[in-house]
Amino acid sequence: MNQDWRSTLISSLALLVGACLLLGLISGEYAWALVLGLAGYLGWHLRQLLRLHNWLRTRQADEAPPDGVGLWGEIFDNIYHQQRREQKMRGRLQAVIDRVQESTAALKDAVIMLDRDGNLEWWNIAAEKLLGLKTPQDSGQQITNLVRDPRFIDYFEHHNYNEPLELPSPVNGHLRLQFHITRYGNREHLMLVRDVTRLHQLEQMRKDFVANVSHELRTPLTVISGYLETLLDNLDNVNPRWLRALQQMQQQGGRMQNLLNDLLLLAKLEATDYPSDNQPVAIDLLLLSIQNDAQALSGEHGHRISLEADAQLRLKGSENELRSAFSNLIFNAVKYTPDAGEIHVRWWGDEHGAYLSVQDNGLGIEAKHLPRLTERFYRVDASRASNTGGTGLGLAIVKHVLLRHRARLEIVSHVGKGSTFTCHFPDLQVVRREP
Ligand code: ADP
Repeated sequence: MNQDWRSTLISSLALLVGACLLLGLISGEYAWALVLGLAGYLGWHLRQLLRLHNWLRTRQADEAPPDGVGLWGEIFDNIYHQQRREQKMRGRLQAVIDRVQESTAALKDAVIMLDRDGNLEWWNIAAEKLLGLKTPQDSGQQITNLVRDPRFIDYFEHHNYNEPLELPSPVNGHLRLQFHITRYGNREHLMLVRDVTRLHQLEQMRKDFVANVSHELRTPLTVISGYLETLLDNLDNVNPRWLRALQQMQQQGGRMQNLLNDLLLLAKLEATDYPSDNQPVAIDLLLLSIQNDAQALSGEHGHRISLEADAQLRLKGSENELRSAFSNLIFNAVKYTPDAGEIHVRWWGDEHGAYLSVQDNGLGIEAKHLPRLTERFYRVDASRASNTGGTGLGLAIVKHVLLRHRARLEIVSHVGKGSTFTCHFPDLQVVRREP
């Protein structure tokens, strides 16, 4: 209440008391005159209060307040103006919400808001098309009850959303969906689901093309290599001038054959997410046989290859795939370590899982190459690779095989000192035998 109103109130009260006293002087009953006067004053205020109450309770939108006198009139007007301001603000806010909802409804991508426990709070129309969510029945339902693919449940519950997840749509097997999850606010989830069917088809076409070309090239190459071998076996009938050319043709033919084999193996690895085999593999025996092959590959180069393997630790997966991956790592160590170099292969486990490391004291790799080393045909030094006869696909195969066994590859290397390639297998892939 400002100063003006305070003095007006005080002076009107003083006027009322004065009038009562005058009435008391005329009637001789001061007390009654005062009581009557104050009761009338109180009654008038109560009536104003009741009018305010009735107006607030029954008023329609925009209905003007009752006419009031003095301070009450100002109170009515203030409340009225404040309510109009709030109404306008609410209108503006609603318009913003409507626009956001309209634009997300028009999105082709599904937008889904989940609470901290993964219960559905809100979603747009695309979510109904792509995931089959139903409005309003599904509100408050657990997302894992509606998208029941075990890979999605695994992804959602592990809270590691750095990489998106790709799955077929639960309502239409022909659609391929990509799930992105972001945590926000009070650990709520914002889930974006994109239809990547077209991209997936293109990727599939690329894989099929590479696999088909590799397959088709195999037969002519086998024929050419066969004739070359026959010619080289019958050197007496061959002009000696052709000898070197024939030898080189045979060598390059061999390289091409290795390349096709690696391309076909990669195509096979890409065809499915996990190996069909999931039997425990005796890694110690597998490594022993690869060690023998590596020693043969080293031949006169005299590498010393040592093996230390825990025979109680087995790994669930495909023996053939693991053999390809581990031989690539161990053969690389032989190829990129100078004569008489040391190579140490170790297979061990701890409470987090199992590890295979291949350590050499060879050429080493500069740190800038490490992040790209598992890319197809990525080579640190092209001349180095052509000397060794590598295909440039070895580490790409290793990466794929490890992915399929839920493992990851770690590379530590120092130029001139050597490299260590370590495969980390999670505990769920490991089987421990009683000693
Ligand atoms: P490649 O068939 O050329 O060996 P990889 O994919 O197996 O192809 O390896 C990629 C590149 O990584 C190789 O060209 C080589 O330069 C490098 N590399 C791989 N293993 C080693 C190692 N143990 N020591 C040094 N360099 C290595």
